[in-house]
Amino acid sequence: ATPMAVMVGTGRGARAGVLVKHAEALQALERVDTLVVDKTGTLTEGKPKLIAIEVLGAVEENRLLALAAAVEAHSEHPLAHAIVTAAAERGLPTGTVADFQSHTGSGVSARVDGHAVTVGNARQMEQAGADPAALEARAAPHRQAGAGVMFIAIDGKAAGLLAVADPLRPSAAGALAALRRDGLRLVMLTGDSRATAEAVATAAGGLDEVRAGLHPDDKAQIIAELRAGGAKVAMAGDGINDAPALAAADVGLAMGGGTDVAIESAGITLVRGDLGAIVRARRLAEATMTNIR
Ligand code: ADP
Ligand code: MG
Repeated sequence: ATPMAVMVGTGRGARAGVLVKHAEALQALERVDTLVVDKTGTLTEGKPKLIAIEVLGAVEENRLLALAAAVEAHSEHPLAHAIVTAAAERGLPTGTVADFQSHTGSGVSARVDGHAVTVGNARQMEQAGADPAALEARAAPHRQAGAGVMFIAIDGKAAGLLAVADPLRPSAAGALAALRRDGLRLVMLTGDSRATAEAVATAAGGLDEVRAGLHPDDKAQIIAELRAGGAKVAMAGDGINDAPALAAADVGLAMGGGTDVAIESAGITLVRGDLGAIVRARRLAEATMTNIR
């Protein structure tokens, strides 16, 4: 194997929109039979926008949003950004925040103006002592439309929900279709709810398997299991929560514009966040390896 051929390959890669960290990554990509993708920020643009607010009980819509935004101002999650932006657009006042806590993969909590406020998924509501059942019922139609839903508890009581829309990346469906034609098995792993995950998968043209409600550690575990079962796995992701899974795959594909941790954990970066670059990178890998052999 001449290192020269690989260098040619990686140089062409930059023009194809892929940044290859080392030759092994390109070789591994040629051999993969399974592509695992994260949902938020990988299949979708990862720039969610608030589209609906629903309140339970007496709290006012703007009060709910302001309390949630006060907590989320301390989080770097894309969902947090959607809430903070929406509150700012409405000119809502931000409260005084103390005791902020981030619960990776499930939500955030803090005291705002003396109230205990929690924003996150059903698991996080239970942690806060709130019953998510009524919120789950109100969330269903939003999720079926592909929106992500965050629940809010105030002083241990379910208080309402915020729904956010996060459009698919324009390249997602076409890239997945091309990879399926190449014979790859397509799997989605997400921390989001099953209903939202299924709706997004359908919009992307369908995947072979959808695993939802996952904790960040679960993603790496599932990759390890797939590999133990004999699969050759590429994992595409963008977030801090994807870093262990990117490192656990035969080849990690980080979305350009994603977090630095994801990029550091991956062998290949899709520079423009374009999933179509995976297809181009595989063609490049084939050509490069043919040159070597
Ligand atoms: P994903 O796999 O969809 O990128 P994460 O693993 O980061 O998501 O989070 C899983 C779920 O936990 C989210 O869908 C959301 O319901 C909840 N969550 C995580 N972080 C936050 C946050 N800062 N604010 C509200 N909810 C959050
Ligand atoms: Mg993500």
